[in-house]
Amino acid sequence: MKYRIILLWIGMSFLIGCSVGAPPTPQPENPIVSLPIVESAATQGTSLLTPETLATDTSTQPVSTSFPKPALTTCRSPSPLTPSLTEGPYFKSGSPERTSLLEADTTGTRLTLTGYVLTADCQPVPSALLEFWQADANRVYDNSGNTLRGHQFTDKTGKYILETVIPGIYTGRTEHIHVKVQAPDGPELTTQLFFPDVAENQSDRIFDPSLVLPLTPVGDGQVAEFNFIISLQ
Ligand code: FE
Repeated sequence: MKYRIILLWIGMSFLIGCSVGAPPTPQPENPIVSLPIVESAATQGTSLLTPETLATDTSTQPVSTSFPKPALTTCRSPSPLTPSLTEGPYFKSGSPERTSLLEADTTGTRLTLTGYVLTADCQPVPSALLEFWQADANRVYDNSGNTLRGHQFTDKTGKYILETVIPGIYTGRTEHIHVKVQAPDGPELTTQLFFPDVAENQSDRIFDPSLVLPLTPVGDGQVAEFNFIISLQ
């Protein structure tokens, strides 16, 4: 009997010793939670302008809710179509596809133009063709090459971006950039963009104040946002 008690005591001591001396059970580390990156309207639009710098329409017309935020500040349904203007004598086909017209020797004030191609009810027009051409800062069009000429297509949100320079003013005209905009299988819009506070705007018979770019200085350049409102048929 005494022998059994001794064996029981030894066994219990062994079990207690194991439980006391055993290393603590490792607790699982807090898992690293990867939050989904929610693409915000701002990142979709990648607007170079803050909402505060965008023109605000105070009309009471309903705002389309199906479009990224930057355009909501400037497109209100129904929106008037962008007016067409004369093509002028210097358009030529076959420009390179590119979003930047800047080259190593390009001089002038840098201009970054962004915006959307939209329908009158503020719906984006993906894959719309935009063709830009303009005079350089010295008022010269390149009619033999493709300097300051280029075409591009809007992305799936209808967005475009153009890097260029502010053109010089040539005789008889004010500062302007020529552009053609066309939805896939849609009619072609030919128009021009103008610049604010240019004295020649007053004497230019083609000038249209609704096509003036709202410039904002950034660094040593200018940025502007402009939406083209086009018809699909
Ligand atoms: Fe021109």
